[in-house]
Amino acid sequence: MALDEIIGHGRPLDILRQALASGRLHHAYLFVGPEGVGKRTLAIALAKAVHCNDSAADFCGACVNCTRIADGNHPDVRIIEPLSGKKEISIQQVRDFERELNYRSFSGKRKVMIVDPAASMNLASQNALLKTLEEPPQDSLIILIAANAGGLLPTVRSRCLRITFAPLARHEVAQYLRAKQGMSGDGVEFLAAMSMGSIGAALGLDQDEFVKKRRIWAGMVGALKGGDYQAAAAAAEALAGKRDEALKFLAWAQSWYRDLLVYGVSGDGDALVNLDMLEQIAAQSAPAEIEQCIAALGASSRAAAGIQRNLNRRMVLEKYLFAVVKGQS
Ligand SMILES: [Zn+2]
Repeated sequence: MALDEIIGHGRPLDILRQALASGRLHHAYLFVGPEGVGKRTLAIALAKAVHCNDSAADFCGACVNCTRIADGNHPDVRIIEPLSGKKEISIQQVRDFERELNYRSFSGKRKVMIVDPAASMNLASQNALLKTLEEPPQDSLIILIAANAGGLLPTVRSRCLRITFAPLARHEVAQYLRAKQGMSGDGVEFLAAMSMGSIGAALGLDQDEFVKKRRIWAGMVGALKGGDYQAAAAAAEALAGKRDEALKFLAWAQSWYRDLLVYGVSGDGDALVNLDMLEQIAAQSAPAEIEQCIAALGASSRAAAGIQRNLNRRMVLEKYLFAVVKGQS
């Protein structure tokens, strides 16, 4: 295992590789990007690259330092997260780890502190950390991990070098599922398409249950085209109950309108994400409705973004499904 074997994230990797090679790692990084794309994996990889016995500016994955970091018991590398049953990282946790940062490193290399998710530090914890960020102990490396920078104090953010992670491309998720999870078959492409660029999301999907659900969803959006606003309102209410479920529905809806579009334009069944639903796609797809499909695709992704920003789910879904009913999202 080495930095080269990490899937995706070309730019963040380039930045970190250069810093490692030139011996100019920043003392604090802020890794920002969607959940489940590999921010923590890369933070741990960076810690390994700092400590590895066998590779300079990279890691081998097999030496005693790499192994101990992977097992979470390297004395110079700490991951700070909410204690079990707690939602927040307490000020005491931050203080304990800061004290450790000031001790000499066991290996003679940098002491690494990874805070994940950084936004689970409350204001007091963040203020406590700020002091360390302002006057970092020699040879320390602090990595804050966040889905977005919004939950962090501007003073904390400004002390860190920000590295932005994008969602993985569909083929990168598929590559990960094949290479790292040993998965194969049509299901891999489908999961990758449904994952919205998040390996965490791909691994969290129960494929069998999902196959059943999307048949129901396909029937539902097909029926809505008939102009039934009451049905749309009821569907919005049902989907709004769980955030996770609403996001899965909208991820699926994007794949669905993409498929209708691809099939409407090309008539090609092989390029579909919902490969096993060719019959329904052929029935719902019409070359004359290409613009509606493009609009629905955009509306699906806007609605998903709204829910990710914690807007009122029922309202977001209702607006979205009403647009689908009107056929002019
Ligand atoms: Zn190593």
